[in-house]
This record gives sequence, structure tokens and C-alpha cells, in this order.
Amino acid sequence: MTYMPGEKPYPLLSVRNLSKFYGKTMGCHEISFELGKGEVIGIVGESGSGKSTLLKCIAGRLTTTNGSIFFNSSYGFIDLCRTDEMLLRKIIRSETGFVTQNSVEGLRMTVSAGGNIGERLMAGGMRHYGQIRKIARQWLETVEIDAKRMDDLPSTFSGGMQQRLQIAANLVTDPRIILMDEPTSGLDVSVQARLIDVLRKLVARLSLSMILVTHDLAVARLLSHRLYVMKDGRIVESGLSDQILDDPREPYTQLLVSSILKP
Ligand code: ADP
Ligand code: MG
Repeated sequence: MTYMPGEKPYPLLSVRNLSKFYGKTMGCHEISFELGKGEVIGIVGESGSGKSTLLKCIAGRLTTTNGSIFFNSSYGFIDLCRTDEMLLRKIIRSETGFVTQNSVEGLRMTVSAGGNIGERLMAGGMRHYGQIRKIARQWLETVEIDAKRMDDLPSTFSGGMQQRLQIAANLVTDPRIILMDEPTSGLDVSVQARLIDVLRKLVARLSLSMILVTHDLAVARLLSHRLYVMKDGRIVESGLSDQILDDPREPYTQLLVSSILKP
């Protein structure tokens, strides 16, 4: 698919017929959707439905088998599947954020909390130590971590704090898009609620453009404008979050929704 200049404003992201196979195993198949600037979409579905595969393809962490991922980057509207490796790394590093369920993967545990935020700024070319510390402190406060903890290692943080730190470290460079893979999973309900609250404030304040992958429909509803329901690697239903969850059309979505509504 090609976009004709001037035809219509480019979306931030346009995924076209994306498929990923692991050998013969299907990860995700013929996925197409668009994301506008300032939009949050949720990708929901059971474990094994292909959510992480899709997200990792968009994040440049997996090589796709087929299809295109057009991204409205500062280098133009580029198909990330057909971009040379060096430019791809540059775009992924400076214009996208990726928050994982597992903070050990998303943070450097041997580097202080402030350092985890600061090193992203340094990677972006910032050199002024005082300035870096000031921004790191502001970001810690934004994600409701006491700035006194700046020089502590993330391993001394609770699970919820680690996730909030991961979010700060990803947002500090002002990425065009933020990708999240099960950011609230594995946390206690009250800790989850706090994290969702921080995220909701950030989404509103910064007009974040975000793709949120979660198997938790309640989390998806609280954060996403639109939802895509995945089953066996494919999208089976999509629409506004409230519409999908209050009035699901597909039998699979109906099952998914009813199973969380049961006590
Ligand atoms: P989800 O994130 O929705 O739980 P995944 O994207 O992890 O789903 O998995 C989708 C499918 O791809 C599953 O059948 C899974 O077994 C398979 N899969 C995922 N990762 C790999 C891998 N690294 N190698 C082989 N198969 C994989
Ligand atoms: Mg997953």
C-alpha cells in the first residue's frame, strides 16, 4: 500500500496486512489498523492470541513475515518493515517507547532510578548533568515517586514503583508513540489502580499516542478510546471501547466479556 502525498493527513501509524509467523506457528495474521495522534488503542484477547507478537513487530523487536507498518516519523511516513536497519534503530530508539510487564526487562537494575531516566536523555544528546538531574527529578514526581529515591536502585522499589519508573524512562524523550505490553499484569489490584491513575493523568496531560496490550478488559476500558479484540492471531472485532464491552457483536468477544463479569 502506498500513500499519495496530499491525499489525506497521514495517521501516526498505519499497520497494513501484517503477519508474523514463527516458522510454521502463526503469531499474528493479516492485521490492519490505524492510530491517530493522541489516540489510545487497546489490544485485548486471551493469552496466546498474538497481542505481544503484534506489538513487538511494531516496536521493531521482531522481523515481520508480511505486510507494512507505516510510521509518521520525523524522517517522513516510513514503512518500518522496509527501512534500513540503521534508520530503523534510530527511529525506534528516539521516537518510540516500549513498556513491558517485566520491569527487569524494561529497566537497568544496576543503574539508579534517576540514571534510568537520565541515560535516555544522554542517548538523545543531552550533556548538562544538572539539567539531566532536574528533568529526572521532575519525571519521578510526575509518576508519583518521591524524588528522594532518585539515587536508589530500582531493585529496591516495589513492583508498582518499578512500572511507574519504566513509564517515566520511556516518556522522558517525548516519543511519538508509546507501546505497552501488559503494564499492569502481575500487580496487586490496589497497586494496579494507582498505576492506571498515573497513566490516565499522563494520557490526558500529554495527549499520548499509545497502544496498550492487555488481557484485562477492565484496564483496557479505563485507558483506551478504541479496542481491537484478537483471537488466534487475528482481529475479530474492533470499535469504541464502551461499545465493544457493553454491546459486543462477535460471539468470541461476548464470551471474553462475560467471563470477566462473572464474580
Ligand atoms: P499473547 O501476547 O496474546 O499472549 P503471543 O503473541 O505471545 O500472544 O503468542 C501468539 C502465538 O505465537 C502463540 O501461539 C505463541 O505460542 C506463539 N509464539 C509467541 N512467541 C513465540 C516464539 N518466540 N517462538 C515461537 N512461537 C511463539
Ligand atoms: Mg503477551
